[in-house]
Parts: sequence; C-alpha cells; structure tokens
Amino acid sequence: RLEVSNLTRSFGGRVVVNDVSLTVMPGQVTCLLGPSGCGKSTTLRLIAGVDRPDAGEVRMDGALMAGGSTMVPPEARGTGLIFQDFALFPHLSVSDNVAFGLKGTRTEKRLRVHELLEKVGLARYVDTFPHELSGGEQQRVALARALAPRPKIMLMDEPFSGLDNRLRDGIRDETLAILKEEGTAVLLVTHEPEEAMRMADEIALMRGGRIVQRGAPYNIYNAPADREAAAFFSDIN
Ligand code: ATP
Ligand code: MG
Repeated sequence: RLEVSNLTRSFGGRVVVNDVSLTVMPGQVTCLLGPSGCGKSTTLRLIAGVDRPDAGEVRMDGALMAGGSTMVPPEARGTGLIFQDFALFPHLSVSDNVAFGLKGTRTEKRLRVHELLEKVGLARYVDTFPHELSGGEQQRVALARALAPRPKIMLMDEPFSGLDNRLRDGIRDETLAILKEEGTAVLLVTHEPEEAMRMADEIALMRGGRIVQRGAPYNIYNAPADREAAAFFSDIN
C-alpha cells in the first residue's frame, strides 16, 4: 500500500504540488485526475523518487521512502514507472529492453522476459527493435519492462494518450487485466475524466496543485465537490 501525505514541491517560489495526500491500496487502481499543468506529473515524480519533496512523506507498506532527510532511490521503492512516450531504449531489442532492470542469472532473466512477452502477446518479437513496432506494441513492451522487477505499485503517466483512438480502449482494458493478474496496484495519471471513470477504483481530483476531492468514480461524478469539478466532468456522456 502506497501512502502519500502532505506532499509539497515548489519551483522558483511557485507551489506546484500543494499538500497532496493520497493512498493506493493493494490490487486497486487509483487515478490522479486533473487539467493540464495542475501538478500531476510532478506528484508522480516525487512518488517515484526521481524528484525530492520540500515537505511531506511517501510511504510503501509503512516504510518511509521520502520525507525528512530520507530519500530512497527509485529502484529500491518497489514502484514501476511508465511514461506517455514509453521511453524504450532505441538501441536495444525488445527482449533486452524488458531485461534491462532485471537482476539474477541469465536463465532467470530469460525466463522472466519470456513470461512477460507471452503475457503481453509479443513473444515473437524478442529480437525486434522498438522502431519496428507500432505505438500499441511499444506500449506493451513498456508495460512488460516496467513489470519485470515485480513492482508493488505501477506509476503510469498518461500512458495511453499517444495511442490511436481506435486502439486505446482495447489496450487500456488489456493493460489493466495484465496488471491485475500480476497483482500490481496502479496509480494512473490522466487529464481525461472519461479514462478515470473507466479505469479507477478511486479518483483523486487535482487542481492548482491540490487534491480537491477523493472518492469512488461514481460518487465524484454524481456529487462533484464544486462547480469547477462539475464542469470538468460535464464533457463525459
Ligand atoms: P500535463 O497534464 O500537461 O502533463 P501536469 O498536471 O502533469 O500537466 P506538471 O508537469 O506536474 O503538470 O507541471 C505543473 C507545473 O509545474 C507546470 O506549470 C510546470 O511548468 C511546472 N514545473 C514542473 N516541473 C518543473 C521544473 N522542474 N521546474 C520549473 N517548473 C516546473
Ligand atoms: Mg503531466
């Protein structure tokens, strides 16, 4: 379980993440939802450990990851990270991309890579390079790579926004199914209310650096905290 409390981060005197608290329970999908520029990616970076908070705490299963003088490095946090642009290594094959962060013997690595590529339906592409794959296929390689070290929580920053509209729904559902099967909880960043409604067990609605409402999608949709929240959801049909 991931617990974020009172996280704060400023750049040049401007508070970008302002007293943010949220929780991701095991097996659940929490969506951090809000308009462009509200501080979602910055929050995710603080949780992943690639940036350091000015105040507040990040805890994994009770253990302090960030806060006070503590700053656990990203690879020791039990979190995986997937960005919008997938950020695959262009000079590495599909299997080497997936194996990249793995420890263990060659055989152990090969087995895990094979298992993951089977799972995402790309077993025949082991020796292929990223530029030879479609956007959807690259997304699945990024998923396999992020899953390889068995993270407890997958942090995903708008992972579906670069995909073709027609593919997106299928890939979303497939991605969720794979994450559920692996037992990985998810913190998904998105600016699309419809995506959060579709995927989330819990939504944290963010605006201007603050969490303005937290709750089940149905509850937030039916009882938005204020007029701005209502307007933000009103595009969905
Ligand atoms: P989007 O939906 O467009 O991705 P976001 O909610 O992810 O937006 P952030 O990327 O977290 O927003 O950025 C929030 C604000 O913080 C922006 O105004 C951005 O310019 C600013 N910001 C982020 N990182 C830095 C930095 N390293 N230095 C200065 N300003 C920054
Ligand atoms: Mg962002």
